[in-house]
Amino acid sequence: MKVAMFSTKRYDRTFFDAANRDRHEITYFEPRLTASTAPLAERYPAVCAFINDELDAATLKILAAGNTRTIALRSAGFNNVDLPEAKALGMNVVRVPAYSPYAVAEHAVGLVLTLNRKLHRAYSRVRDDNFALDGLLGFDLHGATVGIVGTGKIGRCFACIMQGFGCKLLAYDVYQNPECLEMGIEYVELPELLGRSDIISLHCPLTENTHHLVNDETIALFKPGVMLINTSRGALIDTAAAIQGIKSGQIGYLGIDVYEREADIFFEDLSDEVLHDDVFQLLQSFSNVVITAHQAFFTRNALEAISSTTLANLDDIEQGRSCANEVKS
Ligand code: NAD
Repeated sequence: MKVAMFSTKRYDRTFFDAANRDRHEITYFEPRLTASTAPLAERYPAVCAFINDELDAATLKILAAGNTRTIALRSAGFNNVDLPEAKALGMNVVRVPAYSPYAVAEHAVGLVLTLNRKLHRAYSRVRDDNFALDGLLGFDLHGATVGIVGTGKIGRCFACIMQGFGCKLLAYDVYQNPECLEMGIEYVELPELLGRSDIISLHCPLTENTHHLVNDETIALFKPGVMLINTSRGALIDTAAAIQGIKSGQIGYLGIDVYEREADIFFEDLSDEVLHDDVFQLLQSFSNVVITAHQAFFTRNALEAISSTTLANLDDIEQGRSCANEVKS
């Protein structure tokens, strides 16, 4: 099948070429998919898209007019797709529901350890021959209470690792995961989780219900000085409210791999340019904030799984089989 792949980086090409072995005819496009770049996909029956590609109604209509019938997401999340519009246009949307929950959970733990033991600050200090410890004081994770919002595949992996540290685990989810119950995780309502946790980690999808789940009102419920980790989707956090929370000390540490307005900046080298996002710049200025640029998924294992599953999804569509990874609206 002819596939137009958007937001392609060198590493995507490497992993897809290795897994594809000329099965599908893939054209790699570097630009992000938007209504302006969608005409590039004219006459491609399939479009392969990533997390910051904009599959809104306008883009989907252009793709459909150019005869695209399949959207193959190389991600688990599908909050960037207007599913009702895709359905109305008769398009299949397929995704990679689980490529490596370990990759994302382990990165979330990396953010916890970095923030707690201030490794980001220690690293530059030692390189500067400053061997003083003032300002680097951490706390034992053993015995700390960790609140997990969303106990699906990634949340459960995160829970397993934190349990290994000897943390007490609380969880909130609209659905209780039997594997988490078996581990002894205590499910509570969201306000209780927010009020009792020393560390809160977000692992739920971005939906209408979870948009700005962290806002002025919910931040007021936090234990003062809480550590907040978000490796899920940027818009789970109202960034302006988080900044106020950091300034007031209500949020003691913030570790994010995702950011509400990341689509304009992440995955690009902008080191020679002036960044115009003042909110992001302010966020970066706090020493108790660690930001990574949506790299939690970025392991060799995950990229292998993303390419092989995406190609298998395209095989299913091409051969008219039902695809287990189809996203239903
Ligand atoms: P999953 O579907 O296995 O788990 C999501 C869990 O969230 C489910 O248990 C679901 O019941 C729960 N949930 C749904 N609505 C909720 C709500 N309103 N409140 C609380 N919980 C709710 O998904 P997953 O594979 O664990 O991935 C979780 C999220 O991680 C994805 O949606 C995606 O946004 C994000 N993600 C980020 C990266 C990255 O590189 N940073 C990579 C992959 C996935």
